[in-house]
Amino acid sequence: MANIVKKSATKKFFSVILWTRMEKKLKLLGMTPEELRETALQAGLPAFAGKQIASWLYQKKVRSISAMTNISKEGRARLEESYEVGVTAPSDCVTARDGTKKYLFPVSCRVGTTVEDSFIEAVMIPDGDRKTLCVSSQAGCKMGCRFCMTGRQGFHGNLSVADILSQLIGVEESDELTNVVFMGMGEPLDNYDNVLAAIRIMTAPWGFAWSPKRITLSSIGVLPNLERYMADTKCHLAISLHDPFPEERASIMPVQNAWDIRDVVELLKKYDFSGQRRVSFEYTMFAGLNDTRRHAEALVRMLRGLECRVNLIRFHKIPDFEYDTASDRIMDYFKGILEKAGLTATIRASRGEDIFAACGMLAGKNSGNGR
Ligand code: SF4
Repeated sequence: MANIVKKSATKKFFSVILWTRMEKKLKLLGMTPEELRETALQAGLPAFAGKQIASWLYQKKVRSISAMTNISKEGRARLEESYEVGVTAPSDCVTARDGTKKYLFPVSCRVGTTVEDSFIEAVMIPDGDRKTLCVSSQAGCKMGCRFCMTGRQGFHGNLSVADILSQLIGVEESDELTNVVFMGMGEPLDNYDNVLAAIRIMTAPWGFAWSPKRITLSSIGVLPNLERYMADTKCHLAISLHDPFPEERASIMPVQNAWDIRDVVELLKKYDFSGQRRVSFEYTMFAGLNDTRRHAEALVRMLRGLECRVNLIRFHKIPDFEYDTASDRIMDYFKGILEKAGLTATIRASRGEDIFAACGMLAGKNSGNGR
């Protein structure tokens, strides 16, 4: 059973109420210094207050405008009339036996003309001196991968820049994080503008000032925005490949019908991954579907000429999906074929399975049970 470290129904109730009230104000979190400068001027503050506010938001990570003490009391009061900082506190957190922590955040997303309230998850994975946060980019997902719990719940909206950054600021380990992966709920390239704006704030000298090498975006291959991501950032990339044969892949990943994985790989072959920037391919191993010698050899042919790593991933069985995970023996055998052909391959350790925090298991529900 999961060790529930923070679970107070009362606390959660009040944080949701507070959040709902605050939602009516505009959020400063997510704005650039230029946008903050405009905001400051509109509130009757001097132009340089924009830079001061950016520093309070992204370097000092304050939770309230009243904490911005180098801005005059009257100025803060005027700002508070229309704005709030916009950091959302997690409403729940559960810790797995291996130390992995799953945080639940309330979000409010616009879908068409309606605003939907829902929950998203961020997972903190400790590993030696590393602490990686796996963040969500959407509430639910519209991509419909059949093996994924997030895909099962449908789409409930794109996260705002503030919603994305709140996950980094709101977790207990915020100041200790070493890496961030966009591998939580949603397809980040389907909410590209907000994900890019968040990455810019994470990497800007006036923002979190992180190296792009600390950030990895994981995608199933939304081709047009993948090309933009490659041009716009220097961050790492992980592609969910899962099957080298188009028809088989389409049977578990409908995205294959829109953007062929062969085109995704061909696009990536145009970029240089021999330096700082890395690309990896995620390959979840389903017994009897994609775990044969034929698949391993096709994967080798597909990735030939590309400097990359293949991560072989154990599958966490979910209801109403016919495949189970491949056995350890088959995974070792598969890995051996890839390595013999010169590819770097790893079998990824499973983390947080007992709290449903592992890959493909995030569904924005409480406490990791009841699925
Ligand atoms: Fe969406 Fe990723 Fe799940 Fe596919 S695997 S449904 S892209 S969250």
